[in-house]
Amino acid sequence: MKFFWPIIIIIILAVGLVLVFTHQSSTGNVNIVNNNLNSKAVQNLNTSNINQADNLNQTIVNESIANQNQNSNSNQGVINQNKNVNFGFVEINLPISNAKSRITKKPFGIYITPKNSPVQPEKFSGYHTGVDFETLAAEADVEVPIIAIANGKVLVKQFVSGYGGVLIQSATINNQAVTILYGHLKLASINLKVGQQIRAGDKIGILGKGFSSETDGERKHLHLGIHLGASINYRGYVSTQSQLSGWLDAQKLF
Ligand SMILES: [Zn+2]
Repeated sequence: MKFFWPIIIIIILAVGLVLVFTHQSSTGNVNIVNNNLNSKAVQNLNTSNINQADNLNQTIVNESIANQNQNSNSNQGVINQNKNVNFGFVEINLPISNAKSRITKKPFGIYITPKNSPVQPEKFSGYHTGVDFETLAAEADVEVPIIAIANGKVLVKQFVSGYGGVLIQSATINNQAVTILYGHLKLASINLKVGQQIRAGDKIGILGKGFSSETDGERKHLHLGIHLGASINYRGYVSTQSQLSGWLDAQKLF
């Protein structure tokens, strides 16, 4: 029994060595397996990247298609808008040169009193039913032509208090019957006759001389009023804002 413990220890050590060796081998195998797994994982990862990339590409393609659709939709919108605009331009002519830049004092709907008016002295008050197009000082003694803004028929050509010379025509704007009033014209310059058909772009006449009977004492400018419906309404101002619904803002047509 003298050698019992040493033998046991040797056996334990031997078993230990065998275990360690076996473990190393198996660890190596495991590593190899892991490597395989890793390379597979990499492959899978690559595949998945490719798939992702494909998906991404597909997404991009889809998005791009969606964008194209959106673009074509928005283009459609623009085209439609243009159509409307073109429709407007086909149907509506500017009443005076540089029309937009001349709207500096009384746009549609502005509330005027003799006190607050941008025009002094002022004899009117109320909500403006038309759009006023101003003239420059340099145009005081220059003929300023006024152009028919729409196709229609001459309904009125006469002197009207507050305006001087007036021409009113019938027209259809946005499928709606309207009457269009051109105020402060030189009556003698209007060669058109009541009942006569006119076309958008036709010359109506010229503006009356400022502060004369031609404009009934007003400054040299054009008052353009578009009254909804077939009935004629001479009013340049109304006392309540809700009454403005009887007129169209000409500025929105240009
Ligand atoms: Zn006016």
